[in-house]
Amino acid sequence: MPQSRKAIIIGAGPAGLAAALRLHQQTNIQVTIYELRAEPTTLGGAVGIQPNGLRLLDRLGVYEKAAARGFISSNLTLHSMQGHIVAQQDFVGWAREQTGFGYMRIKRTDLVDVLLGAVQKAKIPIHFNMRLTTIKESDESVHVTFGDGSTDTADMLFGCDGIHSFVRRAYVDSKKTLEYSGMSGLGSIIPTSILSSSTTTQITGLDATLTEDGMLAVNPCSAGKDELFCFFSKEVGLPNSGDSRDGWAVHRKEEVDGFKSAMLETLESAKGEWGIAMKEVVDSISVVNFYPVYRLRPGGVWSRGRCILLGDAAHAMSPHAGQGVSMALEDVFLLSRLLEDPERPLKKAFEIYDRIRRPRINEIFKLAAQNAQVRKKTGPWGLWLKEVQFSLAMTLSWVFGADKRGLRQGHLVYDVDEVDLV
Ligand SMILES: Cc1cc2nc3c(=O)[nH]c(=O)nc-3n(C[C@H](O)[C@H](O)[C@H](O)COP(=O)(O)OP(=O)(O)OC[C@H]3O[C@@H](n4cnc5c(N)ncnc54)[C@H](O)[C@@H]3O)c2cc1C
Repeated sequence: MPQSRKAIIIGAGPAGLAAALRLHQQTNIQVTIYELRAEPTTLGGAVGIQPNGLRLLDRLGVYEKAAARGFISSNLTLHSMQGHIVAQQDFVGWAREQTGFGYMRIKRTDLVDVLLGAVQKAKIPIHFNMRLTTIKESDESVHVTFGDGSTDTADMLFGCDGIHSFVRRAYVDSKKTLEYSGMSGLGSIIPTSILSSSTTTQITGLDATLTEDGMLAVNPCSAGKDELFCFFSKEVGLPNSGDSRDGWAVHRKEEVDGFKSAMLETLESAKGEWGIAMKEVVDSISVVNFYPVYRLRPGGVWSRGRCILLGDAAHAMSPHAGQGVSMALEDVFLLSRLLEDPERPLKKAFEIYDRIRRPRINEIFKLAAQNAQVRKKTGPWGLWLKEVQFSLAMTLSWVFGADKRGLRQGHLVYDVDEVDLV
């Protein structure tokens, strides 16, 4: 019987918690998680998870618990500012038939809480309030030190510490820099109890409205439909002070303060029942979170020695493909499969991982960047053109049965557990 191996996981977001669970399920590796924050973060509003990711949550044994909290519907309705419906479709219908999973919108806190519950049930050690300060390697092990002076040693380390990853910056790839995508997201979670019933009954799933300034979308994010995630994706330039923390702090405050009046101004010409509903939703917002969307361009180094980056730490992308969580889950599942065989050297496992993951990540990065285009600022004619294009695309897709054949849904049925490892 080979000796059990030990892994350190840095970060208790979706990637870190899922990695701990999968390694615990599938390998003889003993994991310990270290998280910077004193408790799970509230950042992220509500995330949409697609069939390829939901299937993996199911294999982790947490899908039912997540489904009991999130809102499941893949009904996409695109509304116009004139008050009519431009297009309507079940946007993952074919993928659901293939995989058995649809689309879930769930508060990030609920997702993390469900994963954390499973981690605790499995008795996997997790330490909060731990700031990683150094990573060192010898031939036999990786050694870490934290801000409080405590240390740990293991056979391998997973950097699951998100887009600003310390593991990436300090150890794996110090050359890689973040890039501002030019887009920002403004989001708010609203209790539906404060909205009129004529507004809530109009919201059936993911309801989006194209405006000249960007895209405004609403989507219930809790199982009882008692909370609604409202988010606006728009182009926002870098502040004059550049990409500095101070510049963003001022900019952020201005964005938040001005959000409601700017949105109501954007929606001023919105007509019909839907226009009234959107104005009511925006007017009821009391807290706005502002997320400038940064990303890591494809390429760069994902592993060094005994350390590897997973999730956003390796490949943060713009959220417009709705695949960030699913990409983190796919990373975790592939790596866990590769580490299942204790005889496979770590270096070999990381090499195979890199070869299999690169094309998939590049494909989704490209898709996310393409999807961002429709959210860019435009004039009245540009908006009209976008609506016509959407309407035509959906009508043609329906007429020729492309939606039934899974056009543009191929990436949603990708099963990382079926990928050939050789
Ligand atoms: C506006 C916006 C909307 C999004 N919408 C979606 C969506 O609809 N669907 C979707 O799938 N994805 C979406 N995403 C992306 C998704 O949130 C991320 O891809 C996902 O959270 C990545 O998980 P992660 O665990 O890799 O990183 P994170 O979620 O960032 O978690 C990293 C964890 O590491 C911790 N950490 C950081 N530094 C350290 C350190 N030095 N030591 C220890 N711990 C550390 C952090 O506190 C955090 O808990 C969106 C992102 C944004 C910004």
